[in-house]
Amino acid sequence: MNIKYQNLLDNFEIMTDTYIECDDGWLPLIWELCERITELDIPLRLLTVKEKFGRLRIYPDTYNEGVEDIIDHYEELSGSVCELCGNSGKTVGKHYLKTLCSKHAENWNL
Ligand SMILES: [Zn+2]
Repeated sequence: MNIKYQNLLDNFEIMTDTYIECDDGWLPLIWELCERITELDIPLRLLTVKEKFGRLRIYPDTYNEGVEDIIDHYEELSGSVCELCGNSGKTVGKHYLKTLCSKHAENWNL
């Protein structure tokens, strides 16, 4: 767990015990998502935050329409943000998909 994600866990109660597995470029998206969910004032935790098929995947412990809308929005957004650096990107890869900017996509052949 890197220090940036530790900071996220420390700042948001909904992130207590969350399993995070994705690169730093999506940190601002996750941060914003946590702020928006926290504003809803619903007792809920995020169980898992990870990358799947080049998109951010987030699993809350309970489902709620408002929360689902927010999660869907950020999953969609992650498809155009480089997972490594946060610059604008697109989903690339033949077998293993990842969303990357043009610079990081150069070395991605999986
Ligand atoms: Zn990048």
